[in-house]
Amino acid sequence: MTCILQIGPLTERFNHGMAAEHEVLRFWEEGAEALIAQHAQRIDIVVTSGRFGCTAGLIERLPNLRAIISFGVGYDAIDVAAARARDIQVSNTPDVLNDCVADLAFGLIIDTARQISRADRFVRTGKWPSGGLPLAVRVSGKRLGIVGLGRIGETVAKRSTGFDMQVRYHNRRPVEGSAYGYESNLIELAKWSDFLVVTCPGGESTRNLINRDVLDALGAKGILINISRGSVVDEPALVEALIEGRLGGAGLDVYAHEPKVPQALINLPNVVLLPHIGSATEETRLAMEELLFANLRAFLERGEVLTAV
Ligand code: NAP
Repeated sequence: MTCILQIGPLTERFNHGMAAEHEVLRFWEEGAEALIAQHAQRIDIVVTSGRFGCTAGLIERLPNLRAIISFGVGYDAIDVAAARARDIQVSNTPDVLNDCVADLAFGLIIDTARQISRADRFVRTGKWPSGGLPLAVRVSGKRLGIVGLGRIGETVAKRSTGFDMQVRYHNRRPVEGSAYGYESNLIELAKWSDFLVVTCPGGESTRNLINRDVLDALGAKGILINISRGSVVDEPALVEALIEGRLGGAGLDVYAHEPKVPQALINLPNVVLLPHIGSATEETRLAMEELLFANLRAFLERGEVLTAV
């Protein structure tokens, strides 16, 4: 029987499905270290997620590891270079979550601009009878800048047509055949944008890509939306820009040190804060589980994962 090391718990349904079909060692339970020491030679597959990742140190401890099968798209927490160096395959679950993550990005655009969460708090806390809210920012007809026009970025762009928005984007390279305008300079894209939506991958290559200069270019009327990874935005610079009024607002699903959210962000009225729920719908999480199982099965049957990173 294949021996699988599962790094962290996913849904109950998933954990049961795994345990029913395979011998699973649970890395998050007590005694995991001893289990690994005892079974290191037998573990040939690691199952993990974008959140739990897989370090080079762990890979090194598993001499017969052949595949890392991950739940989610982002793989910045998996040491892919260490895996590649040993010909260990790595898979993720792309595409099946594009719609839900893009829906949430659009939800954040509308919420941040139109103050939906703030207005809800205003009603619930009984403030309505004693006054009104400040006027909000219009969404329709505005300029939408996308940082990372990949699978999710493209889906966000598609959502904008119902809002009569203009779209431009910044990637390292232009997307061949794209109908959207390419901007090779991120600062120029930020200057042009009313809303700047970040949908590129996390990791070292994009760390603090959205820095003080980009935030200043977006400006006092601009709104930043981040649904990619917290590492992409210089969080202290973001907090400073918001406090000093150099940035108009922010809608965030991800943070530099999750689940820690800076108190300064919590205190600000022009910020919408979500707890990393981009793909968290019943339908999408089920589709992600199915794709993870399909990758696992493909690897066991044919020695090759379906959606390699
Ligand atoms: P994707 O299809 O690989 O698209 C990523 C895009 O980012 C590509 O167009 C790429 O173009 C661009 N990019 C990469 N490095 C860049 C850089 N340094 N500067 C500018 N653009 C850059 O990935 P995806 O499936 O759309 O997913 C994107 C990310 O969303 C994931 O990596 C994950 O971290 C995040 N995500 C978050 C949630 C959530 O719950 N909030 C859920 C799912 C995914 P070039 O290569 O040409 O630069």
